[in-house]
Amino acid sequence: MGCKQATIAVNSGSNIDEQYGCVVPPIYLSSTYNFTAFNEPRSHDYSRRGNPSRDVVQQVLAELEGGVGAIMTSSGMSAIHLLCTVFLKPGDLLVAPHDCYGGSYRLFDSLSKRGAYNVIFVDQADDHALKQALAQNPKLVLIETPSNPLLRIVDIQYICNLVHEAGALAIVDNTFLSPVLQKPLDLGADLVVHSCTKYLNGHSDLIAGAIIAKDPAIVEDLAWWANNIGVTGAAFDSYLLLRGIRTLSARVLLQQNNAAVIADYLQQQPQVKKLYYPGLKNHPGHDIALKQQKGFGAMLSFELDGNEQTLRRFLSALKLFTLAESLGGVESLISHTATMTHAGISAEARTQAGITDSLLRVSVGIEDSQDLIADLDNAFQAAATR
Ligand SMILES: *Cc1c(COP(=O)(O)O)cnc(C)c1O
Repeated sequence: MGCKQATIAVNSGSNIDEQYGCVVPPIYLSSTYNFTAFNEPRSHDYSRRGNPSRDVVQQVLAELEGGVGAIMTSSGMSAIHLLCTVFLKPGDLLVAPHDCYGGSYRLFDSLSKRGAYNVIFVDQADDHALKQALAQNPKLVLIETPSNPLLRIVDIQYICNLVHEAGALAIVDNTFLSPVLQKPLDLGADLVVHSCTKYLNGHSDLIAGAIIAKDPAIVEDLAWWANNIGVTGAAFDSYLLLRGIRTLSARVLLQQNNAAVIADYLQQQPQVKKLYYPGLKNHPGHDIALKQQKGFGAMLSFELDGNEQTLRRFLSALKLFTLAESLGGVESLISHTATMTHAGISAEARTQAGITDSLLRVSVGIEDSQDLIADLDNAFQAAATR
């Protein structure tokens, strides 16, 4: 029907119950389904393979990303693992960003060491390095933009063209922006992967993942393997995820507006040594972001001027920003990269990636922006006084 994102998020899959006319799709918890007679199965036989609650949210996810089908999985990691299982055999090559999500890095690193497939990590903003990697005949290329935690941005359309010339498939991890702000399939990607745990659900109360594809044969293959290895999402999580998606557009736009106000404040704050936010004109990915994103998103990171004591004073004075990992929920979160999300990476590798010990990452929520700024202001004062 060609509706816009906000309409799809609210309307898709509603009013489908014929028995009672439920506006909200019912939740189907049954693990199994009776056969109408000998050798006469219904549309569903067992909930690992197919579940009506999961069907609905998969349809909505596919529409939001502009794909033909989606697979909802038990986590973002199981979605990424499923993609590798389907497309990579021993000896096949995966090209991944050098600064990809830590869990993805660990998955590729550990499984390649066991011979499941080969992986090269490359800085995809480095044209020469990217082309060198693509010359090695990869099967799959993972793109992640904006990246975590420095919000590095790469050109999806440009990279997808190179990937296709190399005869590979391009996957974009769209977790950091959600389909409201970026539509990778429209930019040439073959597949989109999400941690639905983040913006799509938006309420920090479930773990789930999704893959969206634009080729029906690939959707069918992914669905077969998802059932085969048993990584499909649960009925209750499907229900919760759909409920979260209903407010996706409203949430993301509010979060993005708040992030812009906070970035503006942080830019004028003398205790901020460095600010990473794609909305800044001097951010290296600003122009690409303008071209391929519908907004600058609600994630930012900054370096606090000072030592560990300064950091401790700052973090313990915050009342509205919770010190926690994850992102994309309605509540504002702050995390210390070196000891939290990137603690598994060596200090040397962190330094090489530009991640200092004073880097803080913020996922901006939907609270009142003036309250958030007052909270930050108070924490900066606490950090400065001993
Ligand atoms: C969180 C995250 C994942 C992993 O998803 P889980 O739902 O935690 O398994 C993958 N990619 C990105 C970019 C993420 O932020």
